[in-house]
Amino acid sequence: KLGVGGIKVFDPHLDSFLKERHHLRQALHKAIEHSSLSLVFQPVVPSLRSQPYKMEALLRWRDDEFGQVSPTVFIPIAEESGLIVPLGRWVLHSACVTALDWPNKCVICVNVSIHQILSGSLLADIQSALEHSGLAPSRLEIEITESVFAQDIDYLSSVLRAVRDLGVRVAIDDFGTGYSSLAYLRRLPVDTVKIDRSFINELDLESQKFLFSIVTMARGLGFYIVAEGVETRQQKDLLLGLGVDYIQGYFFSKPIDLAASSKWLADQLDE
Ligand code: C2E
Ligand code: CA
Ligand code: CA
Ligand code: CA
Repeated sequence: KLGVGGIKVFDPHLDSFLKERHHLRQALHKAIEHSSLSLVFQPVVPSLRSQPYKMEALLRWRDDEFGQVSPTVFIPIAEESGLIVPLGRWVLHSACVTALDWPNKCVICVNVSIHQILSGSLLADIQSALEHSGLAPSRLEIEITESVFAQDIDYLSSVLRAVRDLGVRVAIDDFGTGYSSLAYLRRLPVDTVKIDRSFINELDLESQKFLFSIVTMARGLGFYIVAEGVETRQQKDLLLGLGVDYIQGYFFSKPIDLAASSKWLADQLDE
């Protein structure tokens, strides 16, 4: 906090916040070493039964001192400290090993941080996860948030192209909230866009027009479309009416643990 003339004054809130972040960083380090991290999985449900089911892997961390820590808190800290690279490597590995036990057509979606891409290790990490697990590349999809398109677009698209050349799918997460322009989108090797939850929350006429426009554009550009954060039947029906390819959200299922995920998939494919 800056006082008169830009002189730093003591701010107890900021102080305790920084101290906590420091603790968090140390605890996160330990969590990676002692594997107190786990993955949960959230179903991504196809509108047409001919399309494969997907499951999104989401990181969970339960710390002895801090309790359950949200990924929205610890992912940014892991990114700042560079820990996201080994952490992301662990996620890729665990996710691929898990998916191997699922029915053949099921795709596992893994969130990837821009820091993993910029560190230069993403491609090797993906290759190694596929090799060690034996998972078919077409059963892995990586999700990168749209905000990363503020980065060096040429480097980004070269990495994504290489990932796709492996046969791995690429999705843009939080679509509609970031910086991507139509020109970027046209140049990026992307299969799927995930429309951000914030556009699905509200169902007033303006939001519906906006949703309709995004869906029409994404469809016109040849992307598969996922709607995330779908909580009610009303939202689901509206989105199905707009012709989205996949629906994800509490309406179908919250993120669930490994045992529940396997059961969930088995139940769907039984029907
Ligand atoms: P995201 O990738 O956009 O994931 C969707 C978030 O929305 C998840 O929160 C999920 O639990 C939540 N969600 C799903 N359906 C609904 C719904 O119907 N209503 C509401 N209100 N929320 C819903 P979560 O698990 O807390 O993850 C938050 C963010 O943390 C993720 O956002 C992602 O950006 C990041 N994250 C999680 N796991 C990883 C990971 O392994 N690697 C990286 N780099 N980031 C991760
Ligand atoms: Ca995601
Ligand atoms: Ca998202
Ligand atoms: Ca998000």
